[in-house]
Amino acid sequence: KTFEEIPGLSQELLKGILNMNFRKPSKIQERALPLLLRDPPQNLIGQSQSGTGKTAAFTLNILTRIDISLQQPQALVLAPSRELARQIQGVIKHMGSFMPGLETVAAIPDPTRRGKITAQVVVGTPGTVQDWIKKRVMDVSKMKVMVLDEADNMLDQQGLGDQCRRVRTLLPRNMQIVLFSATFPDQVLDFAKSFAPDANMITL
Ligand code: AMP
Repeated sequence: KTFEEIPGLSQELLKGILNMNFRKPSKIQERALPLLLRDPPQNLIGQSQSGTGKTAAFTLNILTRIDISLQQPQALVLAPSRELARQIQGVIKHMGSFMPGLETVAAIPDPTRRGKITAQVVVGTPGTVQDWIKKRVMDVSKMKVMVLDEADNMLDQQGLGDQCRRVRTLLPRNMQIVLFSATFPDQVLDFAKSFAPDANMITL
C-alpha cells in the first residue's frame, strides 16, 4: 500500500511525505490513518512504541484537519517532556513544508514570549499549555484535535496525568482525541478510555 492510496491526504501532504523520504506507510500508519481521517472525526487509542512512525501518523491527521488560513490554535499535542515536545514540533513543521502559512509552536516555558499564539498547531508539556490557556496567551475556542503522546510515560510522572485531564477540561467539548502509549497496564488503559471516550483501538 502507498500513501497515495490512503484517502484524504492532500497533494501538499503527499509532497511533505516525499520530502521526508518516506516510501510507504509503516504498519501503524497504514492502520491508524484511515481511522484518523474518517469523517466525522473519531477518537483513537493506539498502542505503539517509538520508532514505529506514530508521530507521522498523528501529524498527518492534524495537518489534514487544520485550516491554515486561520491564525488560531486548532490542534494540540501533549508530550511528557520538553525534549519530546520540541522533537514532535520539528516533525510537524517538516511534514508541513508545503503548506504555506502553517505555523507551529512548542509550548515550553519562555519568559520572552509576547502576545497571542497565532500558530495552528501547539505542541507542549501539560503544565505550560495549561498556563498559556489560563493566561489567555492561547485562545482554544477553535481547537478541534488533541493528541496525547506517550500516555504511559505521562502517567509515570507525578501529577502529569492530572494536568492532562485539567487541560482537557479547558478545551471545547467536541474534539477528536488521539492517544498513544507503548504499554497499557490497567491504570493506563483506564486513563486512556476515560480520556478518549468511544475510541477506535489499534494494537500493533
Ligand atoms: P516515531 O515512531 O514517530 O518516533 O518515528 C520513528 C522514525 O521513523 C522517525 O525517524 C521517522 O522519520 C521514521 N518514519 C516514520 N514513518 C516512516 C515511513 N513511513 N517510512 C520511513 N520512515 C518513517
